[in-house]
This record gives sequence, C-alpha cells and structure tokens, in this order.
Amino acid sequence: MTKRYDTIVVGGGPAGLTAALYAGRSKLSAVLIERGMPGGQLLNTKDIEDYTGFEHVEGLELAELMTRHAQKFGAEFVTDTVTAIRRNPDSSDPFERWLVECDSGDVYAAPTVILTAGGTAYKLGVPGEEAFAGRGVSYCAICDGAFFQNEVIAVVGGGDAAVEEADFLTRYGSKVYLIHRRDELRAQKVIQERALRNPKIEVIWDTVVKAIEGDAKGVKRLILQGTRRPDGEYDFEGVGPTRELEVTGVFVFVGFAPNVDLLKEHAEHDARGYLTTDTRMETSLGGFFAAGDVRSQLVRQITTAVGDGTTAAMAAEKEIAELRERVSGLAGERVGG
Ligand SMILES: Cc1cc2nc3c(=O)[nH]c(=O)nc-3n(C[C@H](O)[C@H](O)[C@H](O)COP(=O)(O)OP(=O)(O)OC[C@H]3O[C@@H](n4cnc5c(N)ncnc54)[C@H](O)[C@@H]3O)c2cc1C
Repeated sequence: MTKRYDTIVVGGGPAGLTAALYAGRSKLSAVLIERGMPGGQLLNTKDIEDYTGFEHVEGLELAELMTRHAQKFGAEFVTDTVTAIRRNPDSSDPFERWLVECDSGDVYAAPTVILTAGGTAYKLGVPGEEAFAGRGVSYCAICDGAFFQNEVIAVVGGGDAAVEEADFLTRYGSKVYLIHRRDELRAQKVIQERALRNPKIEVIWDTVVKAIEGDAKGVKRLILQGTRRPDGEYDFEGVGPTRELEVTGVFVFVGFAPNVDLLKEHAEHDARGYLTTDTRMETSLGGFFAAGDVRSQLVRQITTAVGDGTTAAMAAEKEIAELRERVSGLAGERVGG
C-alpha cells in the first residue's frame, strides 16, 4: 500500500533533519527516510568548531541533538534505504505526483519531495585510511584544517578541489605537500598558478600513497611509491621502491559525487552532477527540492545544509498551500457549475 504524506524528506543528515523540523513545525505531514542512524556526515566527524553557537561540539552529540529536535515537531522517522524517486505515472492526483520507493518494498507518495542524500567522497582505499579517519585523515579542509596549526600536511589529488584546498591549508600548516599521481595537475590554470606560487606548497609528482601509518595519537607518516615505469608509462598501482613522508595530516581530494542516482527523472545539474536549484531549493522538476551537499553550491558545510533544509521545507509548505487552494478552487467551480 502506498503511504501518503505532504512531504517526503530523503536522507537524515543536517539538511534532512532541519527540513523535517521545519516541515513538522509548519504542520505538514512529513516523513524522513534515512538508511542508517540519523546525522549523516556528522557521524563521521569527531570535532566541530564552526557551527554557530557551538565553539566545540562532537559530531555524534550534534547529530543526537538535531534528531531529537526534529522529532519533537511531529515528523515521522523511518529507517529504510530509498531505491528510487520518480514521478507517479498512474495518478492524476497532484497530491500523489511523486513516488518514493524503498528497499523494504514500501512506497510513499507526496506532492513534494526534499532530497538531502548528501554525497560520497572517494577514498584512496589504502591501509590506514579508515583507521585514521578523523585522526589525521580528512576529506574536508574547511572543517579540519584548523586542527593542523604549524604541522606538516599532505593533500592527495590533482583536480580543482585538491589544489585549491592545498592553497587554503597553507594558512594553517607549516608545509603542505601536494601528492599527485601524474606530472601535470588537472586543476584550472589560475588555481594551479596561485598554488604553485605559494612557497609553503611542494608538489610531489608521479607518486601515489600506498599506506597511512601512525600511532594512538594519529597519523605520523605516509608510505609513497612512484608511478612511472622504466618505459615511461604510468602504473598507478605504484612501481619501484617505497619511501616514507612524515606528516600529521592527510587531506584526500580524489573526487566527491552527489548521491543523485536514486532520482529516476532528469533534473538539471551542474557539470559535476550536483542538482541545480532556484533560491527556494526547487530543482527543474516541480515539487522536487534539493538541499545540502547534494545541491550545486559554493561551500558544503553544516551551516549551509541546515539553511538549505529550512528554505526547502518552507518552500514545500507554500507550494502545498497553493496546490490546496487551486484544487479547492477547481472543486468550487465544479459545484458552482
Ligand atoms: C569527515 C568530515 C568532516 C566534516 N566536518 C565538518 C565541520 O567540522 N563543519 C562543517 O560545517 N561541516 C563539516 N563537514 C561537512 C558537513 O558534514 C556536510 O556539509 C553536511 O553533513 C551535509 O549535510 P547533508 O544533510 O546535506 O548531507 P549528509 O550529512 O551527507 O547526509 C545525507 C544523509 O542521507 C542518507 N542517505 C543517502 N542515500 C540514502 C538513501 N538512498 N536512502 C536513505 N538515506 C540515504 C545518508 O545515510 C546520510 O545520513 C564534514 C564532512 C566530512 C565528511
């Protein structure tokens, strides 16, 4: 059986939890569907020092506070994995125009959907990466850079994000190594030039990270290996002898993809696949909103995610009110003849 709601929030990170909070306070019938424990990336973050009002809070604590707060205003929480979001092909009822299908077989229908499924940072997949995540291994320079004041840091990658963030990290680190597997960066020329002019940055070309090592305090060193074979061709698995590089922090920027695959309709997006929205967080698809990391925007932070979630929920509420007026106006016309 299909369950009907005013709005369906997909994902329970900061954006989704805030959307659920505002939807509940606006008296919408709202369901938030999250595949795991609510909190999103907060659950992978030990220390947060840049969420306004909290000089320091642990990610887990903030996740619990946000979840409790969102639940207080009546949104229903469901643990399930969303497998598909599509326009309802069988119904002319505008209040059932979107269908959300879940792994359990449950199907939800609503006039509005707010997608807050975040994104996935690509990993290096080397020994030590998981063990030292949050203890020297990071995927977010704005979030964690300040923890590495006057320390030696490595950045892995060669695209815009890696090169820009290496430049940004020099405001904290005493030295920043930029490790790239080729002899040429992929980042835009202006970004490259700025970074390469920076005296604190040293690029280590034609090299991959094979392992991340450390102790109970955190990361101590990287194990590096060259990528050029004697015939000049590349082998990104690494060739020749390995060597050590002493660092206490390693920032990995080898790609980040928004979790948009579950949307089975075409929505407008930017060159990297992030959904583009108007200022109400509505995508090119009517009644379909995107908020937080899944959306095309300049920075991806907790503050921006909660702002997006607020706007999306309030815009959904307005759209539903307009829809109700339109439908009752049409019914009135019919009764009046
Ligand atoms: C290691 C790390 C540290 C960070 N530190 C900071 C910091 O200090 N300060 C700061 O401001 N920002 C920080 N950030 C960034 C911040 O966490 C994100 O910008 C923020 O969490 C984005 O919120 P979101 O709700 O858009 O997405 P997410 O937090 O990614 O939440 C998305 C949620 O959607 C769920 N989901 C995805 N697909 C499905 C599906 N198919 N079905 C059901 N559920 C689904 C996921 O399980 C997840 O819970 C950090 C990020 C990382 C990775």
